[in-house]
Amino acid sequence: MIDLRSDTVTQPCPAMRQAMASAEVGDDVIDVDPTTAKLQERIAELLGKEAAMFMPSGTMTNQAAVRLHCRPGDEMICEEGCHIFNYEQGAFAQLSGVIARTVRGVRSTFQVADVADLIRPDNEHAARTRLLTLENTHNRGGGVILPLENVQALCRWARDQGLATHLDGARLFNAVVATGIAADVWAREFDTVSVCFSKGLGAPVGSALAGPREMLAPLRRIRKLFGGGMRQSGILAAAALYALDHNIERLARDHQTAAILADGIRRCEFFRLEPEQVDTNIVIFRIDSQRLSAARFCELAKEAGVWMLPFSRCHVRAVTHLHISLPAAQQAVAVIERLHQQLVCGRLPTG
Ligand SMILES: *Cc1c(COP(=O)(O)O)cnc(C)c1O
Repeated sequence: MIDLRSDTVTQPCPAMRQAMASAEVGDDVIDVDPTTAKLQERIAELLGKEAAMFMPSGTMTNQAAVRLHCRPGDEMICEEGCHIFNYEQGAFAQLSGVIARTVRGVRSTFQVADVADLIRPDNEHAARTRLLTLENTHNRGGGVILPLENVQALCRWARDQGLATHLDGARLFNAVVATGIAADVWAREFDTVSVCFSKGLGAPVGSALAGPREMLAPLRRIRKLFGGGMRQSGILAAAALYALDHNIERLARDHQTAAILADGIRRCEFFRLEPEQVDTNIVIFRIDSQRLSAARFCELAKEAGVWMLPFSRCHVRAVTHLHISLPAAQQAVAVIERLHQQLVCGRLPTG
């Protein structure tokens, strides 16, 4: 089965498992786990921040950042397709009493002019505008890379307005490899940055939140409150360290395999890439046919050995990762093209 559902489906390789098995560990809640401490230093340095904290998931990491920056009754500004707004159960409201003001981006990107009037006046009728969050690469947007100048301009504007800034960088390293712009440059203008080890980097579990040491001071309490205090977490941190050593540069191949998928889909007249340009490892396409839903297409493709996710009634998402070789991507294209041909000829099995 060629599993293109997500870049989270990867299995740790034997060498990663070996690194996990031999990790030096301690109790990171009582005091310190040495391997976790090493990972935290390493990721802080990579992101050009003073400190970082290991967290169990990207969701918890983002929500801890919201909690860190906001008080109940505060408002955050975010792009309407972002993960924090769409895929975390509105946890910013449930856990932190924060409301969201969404902005519709073009290719998941918005401009200072789009948000300039969103700062609420300082009076008792209004929520307090407090936080700007961005997501790079943008998941729902189709792995889109927000341009660096755009990110910088938005962060500088936010700082001038007295807002805190947070980057959901679950796939930041995809942006790093695709652009050649270092992680610390992408991270520089943000107060806090989250990254995931369990996406394209191929570790089984884990994320981190990086930022200035003083700003992160309340984070240990917040992580404990959210249930994220972990004991011998070095076993997981060892996998993340292995991923940082071995799996960053290879993300380029995931972008290559995604480009192969995209080229195949471009040849199918009833399928339309959305967005048209595929920047990294996520490919989203629309099925322009009343006769074939995305869900049905995904069923048929799965029967033919290619597993993708229906992303809406008419959109399909395919994500490449470290188990997808160039031949596997070509094979997936062959299946997609064959199904498309059957659609064109009206010979698709109806279900
Ligand atoms: C996957 C993802 C997360 C959340 O990660 P989990 O570890 O699944 O909680 C956050 N942001 C983005 C953009 C993601 O793709």
